[in-house]
Amino acid sequence: MPDRVKQMNETQFQQLKSEVKAYVNGPLQAVSDAIEKTGVCGKDVWRKLRSQGYLNLAAPEPLGGRGLSFSQYLQIIELFARSHGSIRVIVHVSNGIWRPFLSLVSAEQKERFLKPLIEGRLIATFTLTEPGSGSGADLKTTVRKVGANYLVNGEKWMISFGDIADYFLLFARLEGTSGYDGTVALMVPRGAPGLEIQMMPPAMGQTGTGHAHLYLKNARVPARNLLGVPGQGLTAALSGFLGPSRVSVAMTCVGLAERALELAVKRAKERVTFGKPLARRQIIQTYLAEMATDIEAARLLCIHAGELQDRQTLTAEKASMAKLYSVGMLKRVTDKALRIFGGIGYFKGSEIERIYRDSRMPWFEEGTAETQKVIIAKHVLERGD
Ligand SMILES: Cc1cc2nc3c(=O)[nH]c(=O)nc-3n(C[C@H](O)[C@H](O)[C@H](O)COP(=O)(O)OP(=O)(O)OC[C@H]3O[C@@H](n4cnc5c(N)ncnc54)[C@H](O)[C@@H]3O)c2cc1C
Repeated sequence: MPDRVKQMNETQFQQLKSEVKAYVNGPLQAVSDAIEKTGVCGKDVWRKLRSQGYLNLAAPEPLGGRGLSFSQYLQIIELFARSHGSIRVIVHVSNGIWRPFLSLVSAEQKERFLKPLIEGRLIATFTLTEPGSGSGADLKTTVRKVGANYLVNGEKWMISFGDIADYFLLFARLEGTSGYDGTVALMVPRGAPGLEIQMMPPAMGQTGTGHAHLYLKNARVPARNLLGVPGQGLTAALSGFLGPSRVSVAMTCVGLAERALELAVKRAKERVTFGKPLARRQIIQTYLAEMATDIEAARLLCIHAGELQDRQTLTAEKASMAKLYSVGMLKRVTDKALRIFGGIGYFKGSEIERIYRDSRMPWFEEGTAETQKVIIAKHVLERGD
């Protein structure tokens, strides 16, 4: 366990936090409105966030990152979560996608993939989910080595940023293997022969993020794009990336719920019915008290998991607990916020309406609530009585 966690010095970090707060409450509001209006969140938004230095926050400095500790990064993602779902997911993915590479890349791949990814010269997207199998060791997409290439066959879908990604960090298996055996992580270039990319319909929330359905028919990928060795693919996906990523998603739930509470409080103070503001009704006060308490409980679980990650002792169980509790909390808080708003909150153009839709996404991200329960139950049962 490291005695001292590497992190940005406190003065610089507090400056960064104030800067991000002002950016979220200022310029990003107009960006958010434009995304909702046009239905598009393209590369331009990435460029803006990149030029501000917000997409390489958590990566180590020697690799081109800004060297925040994970706990510091969580405080920043909490702020971004208050903005639009698509903006938040860009910050979340960019600040985590490099993690599975760390344990897998060769020196040559570090220069060709990892550093350009962190520096923003490449966009890669996590490509695991399939229409014909469960997420994880059940994956069915196969690879076969032929000469200097892998031929990839299968389908992937719901892949975020499939509209703009330069590479798909794709998880598959060697033909004829099962379970974790023979799983591979492969960098599939957008232009790979045999890869067809079709865009999926717009999602319920996260307006503007392009989700792709990939069809791979003997798609040809250079063998030098294989990360690590066969058999390591899924371990990298599940342990290197998903643990901290689940905590990051959990903290985004906290940030978004805080914004919902803030809006609900404002509305409760302004809206007068039967001669009194809603905020003076005890039933509304109980909602507000429950919301604030629920948010605080989730935040503490996330902070604890973040500290464990910094000490390199984060377990799958603790990451899943933070995520499980936080998605449930966000659902309860946004539900109550919408009730406090009344019917007007249900209409397009109201921020709470967008938040309600955006808040359904973390339910699926990095594994559903059911998946988190499976992981937690496994640990509970292994510990015995
Ligand atoms: C907007 C959006 C963006 C996404 N972006 C990406 C992306 O960039 N990359 C990517 O790889 N994936 C992405 N996904 C996919 C996401 O990770 C999956 O939707 C999620 O993991 C659930 O898998 P599934 O949809 O296949 O559900 P299914 O596996 O079909 O599950 C359906 C239901 O059954 C439950 N269930 C399934 N198996 C079990 C089991 N063994 N035990 C108990 N319950 C079970 C699930 O919890 C769920 O409630 C995205 C999804 C969405 C909605």
